[in-house]
Amino acid sequence: MGSDMELRNKIKQFCQDAGADIIGFAPVERWDQVNECPVEFRPRSLWEPARTVIVLGVAMPLPIVETTPSLLHKEMYDTANRTLDGMAYNLVRYLNRLGHASYYFMRDGFGSLRLLKDRPAAAFNHITAAKYAGLGTVGVNNCLLTPEFGPRVRLVSIFTEVALEPDPMVAKELCIKCGTCAKCCPVNALVMKEDSYKGEFILLPCLERHRELTADKAYPCGICTKVCPVGKDRRLYKQKGILKKYLEESEALNANPDDPRYKSWTHVRKYGSWNKEFPR
Ligand code: SF4
Ligand code: SF4
Repeated sequence: MGSDMELRNKIKQFCQDAGADIIGFAPVERWDQVNECPVEFRPRSLWEPARTVIVLGVAMPLPIVETTPSLLHKEMYDTANRTLDGMAYNLVRYLNRLGHASYYFMRDGFGSLRLLKDRPAAAFNHITAAKYAGLGTVGVNNCLLTPEFGPRVRLVSIFTEVALEPDPMVAKELCIKCGTCAKCCPVNALVMKEDSYKGEFILLPCLERHRELTADKAYPCGICTKVCPVGKDRRLYKQKGILKKYLEESEALNANPDDPRYKSWTHVRKYGSWNKEFPR
């Protein structure tokens, strides 16, 4: 185990140096133990030698997420995705150079919204992987909630043939079931469930909204990640107690598109994309 810990530390250092904000290690056996996703979606079905899944996350800075839907948010989202793919690709090659066969699964698993509509899943789920790697829990918004950034984080997964010391899964649910994500969703695609922290997600209205936002150059929506109160990033940005502002936003801007409380967001939304729905 000594040399495995050494390798684990090396991997962590490599990923931190590459810019990962959070890093977790999941043993592939967790997919079988928890037994919540079909066998063909598990790491060993995708790549038989896999023994550990390393999950990397990069943060999406809150004040940029708050401008959604906007070109600024779209560009940051695209940059996060490119950064993740680059980190995963480089980590695989680094591990291969060290003599440990590795593989990665790209950060998004669908080529277009139309494809997602016809086949509403990716071949591998990074949210599940991140949960098994101890990075967080899944909330009503169906996103991974992390202690550091709440749901404002993007993820990628790297499989390796080495059995590395795993991280424990987060024992306490991070979602507080405040319902803000469900209330703020503009198309009512999230429904709270009595018996679960994970909400019911209604795909079609969310997809339709994303189709419109893509045409407007303001993809993705992300309101359910913006409004979630979970995450230490709110402390960094001194943004505790802002839920009222989020909850009132839609109505306030419909009444007055120039409402001064939302000026910094609506100004960004006005430029650079065809934001038909401006102010929202
Ligand atoms: S991304 Fe937007 S439309 Fe989809 S569930 Fe979240 S808030 Fe609703
Ligand atoms: S907004 Fe509230 S209900 Fe929704 S995921 Fe975050 S904590 Fe849970």
